Amino acid sequence: MYAASPRAAGSVLELTEALIARASLTPDDAGCSALIAERLARLGFALEWLNREGVTNLWATRSFGAPHAAPLVILAGHTDVVPPGPVGQWSSDPFTPTLREGRLYGRGAADMKSGLAAMVCAVERLICEQPPRRGTLAFLITSDEEGRAQHGTRHVCTVLRERGLKPDYAVVGEASSLRRLGDRLVIGRRGSLGCDLRVLGRQGHVAYPERADNPIHRLAPVLAELVAARWDEGDADFPPTSLQISNFHAGTGANNVIPGAAELVFNFRYGPASNAEGLKARVHEVLDRHGLRYEAQWWHSGEPFLTRRAALFEAARAAIAEVTGLETPQTFTGGGTSDARFIAPLGAEVIELGPVNDSIHKVDEYVEVADLEPLAAIYQGILSRLLA
Ligand SMILES: [Zn+2]
Repeated sequence: MYAASPRAAGSVLELTEALIARASLTPDDAGCSALIAERLARLGFALEWLNREGVTNLWATRSFGAPHAAPLVILAGHTDVVPPGPVGQWSSDPFTPTLREGRLYGRGAADMKSGLAAMVCAVERLICEQPPRRGTLAFLITSDEEGRAQHGTRHVCTVLRERGLKPDYAVVGEASSLRRLGDRLVIGRRGSLGCDLRVLGRQGHVAYPERADNPIHRLAPVLAELVAARWDEGDADFPPTSLQISNFHAGTGANNVIPGAAELVFNFRYGPASNAEGLKARVHEVLDRHGLRYEAQWWHSGEPFLTRRAALFEAARAAIAEVTGLETPQTFTGGGTSDARFIAPLGAEVIELGPVNDSIHKVDEYVEVADLEPLAAIYQGILSRLLA
């Protein structure tokens, strides 16, 4: 088991606290990346700012052995946090890092400032204690993950692709653990496809339905069919694709008026057994078969990905076992989307590994203080294995 020992450099706790104190609501980085960049510059990292549309993007690299030496290992994360919600419901100010009963509280404590801090400390210690002989280490840090994620990691990955850079491995420091540190690794994510559907009818008096066209009545059987549909069977790594309706809205406010339109919002979370174009086509087939007049606006926020389980997966498993004693972390592909969806298509083996995710996006977000140093030790263990 891992035992914390005093370090010459700062602790993960200190850096996590410093990051929490910077209120970095998407897309405002609030100086978080500058703080990290300063630490990386001292280690000899070359810094490049790929900022865009108010989003702060840091790409920092350091090679060992030879310039651009392989393998290229990316440590990825985001400095931005979701809004705290009603501040009065927090037990302490969300942007004042606060220690209580072994936990560090503050917005971003778990998602994902502790992950970032642990990555920085891991690299500092690696370079001080056992500098890699070969390979390139890179940090990819953005302030636009919790928002629309258009100008953050997606943009940086576009730049990397234009340069012909092919990362071999990427660790995303998102809160992946379920009950205790290292018990779960995220090895893939489902794709997300949404639709704003507007079904057109003709407004009229409820007493004269023959002179109107009720869009709710037209939509009802379609709704039933969409909800009952089996889109795919899933596979060993992914559950079956799910369609969820998040809003259904119609009506003029008067109880004697047939409305002229009805609006439906729904979202697919889908695995590799389906794809966005195929799902769209199946929905349109149902709508058309029922003779609906409609306008459909689709939004696609990412294809599913499933990483191969190779050297990075093995390195993570070994590092987790060494630090926590947990032999076989479970693998997971559920949850929302993450920036790993932009990195995986570059060809990298990608995992998400970070603290327990129980409190993310909630009031009184926290991370267990006792998990902070072990998390850095796990990251260091992964890097020392990949760059040995
Ligand atoms: Zn996150």
